[in-house]
Amino acid sequence: MTNINGKVALISGASSGIGAAAAHKLAAAGVKVGIAARRTERLEALKADITEKGGEALVIEMDVVDPACVEAGVKKLVAAYGSIDILLNNAGLMPLSDVDQLKTSEWHRMVDVNVKGLLNTTAAVLPQMIKQHSGHIFNTSSIAGRKVFKGLSVYCATKHAVTAFSDGLRMEVGQKHNIRVTCIQPGAVATELYDQITDPGYRQQMDDLTKQMSFLQGADIADTILFALQAPAHVNVAELFVLPIDQG
Ligand code: NDP
Repeated sequence: MTNINGKVALISGASSGIGAAAAHKLAAAGVKVGIAARRTERLEALKADITEKGGEALVIEMDVVDPACVEAGVKKLVAAYGSIDILLNNAGLMPLSDVDQLKTSEWHRMVDVNVKGLLNTTAAVLPQMIKQHSGHIFNTSSIAGRKVFKGLSVYCATKHAVTAFSDGLRMEVGQKHNIRVTCIQPGAVATELYDQITDPGYRQQMDDLTKQMSFLQGADIADTILFALQAPAHVNVAELFVLPIDQG
């Protein structure tokens, strides 16, 4: 088992859903968590909750689209805790629509956050992990990074990019820099992700799905992150493909 007590993590998209759940679980396991997102009032509430339970958290206002903002956040975390051992690249969004609706600003937003944002955060953290000659990077892809669904064409394209990047990164930094890379590929998780769907048809479809399927909770994904983190140092859990039992 790898002991994670006292390690330092940066979690992007920590203000809700999977990121917030991971912050809770990691902090409960003794990890000092840098909780990053744009909605700082949510992060302050999360920090208060973590602190009350005996954990340690640092609020980091971060828009992953802005490389300078990401770098400043990483510097703040290293200044506070001295290292970064774990990166959870989790910020993302999924406004569904058919391509012929030409919701191009939503397409660009998905590419900016889901792909470029993840690259920005990786670029900002990697030099620190290389200097430490250790680290564990988790990239949140999706079942949509393994197969394609109607209405999710652009989202699937972004998540396939995350899956591809994760595999390449794993091959490049594993042996050379002693950094593990895990690609997380959840099925349906009950979070705020679906609230941003502006297409009424797909919004209704997602609402219907919540009645037909037993969605995972953010904590379920957080548990699998802990499993990969605590695996012996020579073990790299390269993929975490986690689905509700009744998801096809
Ligand atoms: P939520 O909507 O609950 O969380 C998304 C998080 O991303 C929020 O904390 C939000 O914070 C953050 N975020 C969005 N834009 C930015 C930005 N520009 N800069 C920084 N942070 C940003 O959804 P989930 O928890 O479900 O999503 C987490 C990840 O899991 C996403 O990558 C998603 O694609 C993936 N996923 C989710 C699944 C699901 O069914 N829920 C299934 C498979 C994958 P803020 O707005 O405060 O900045």
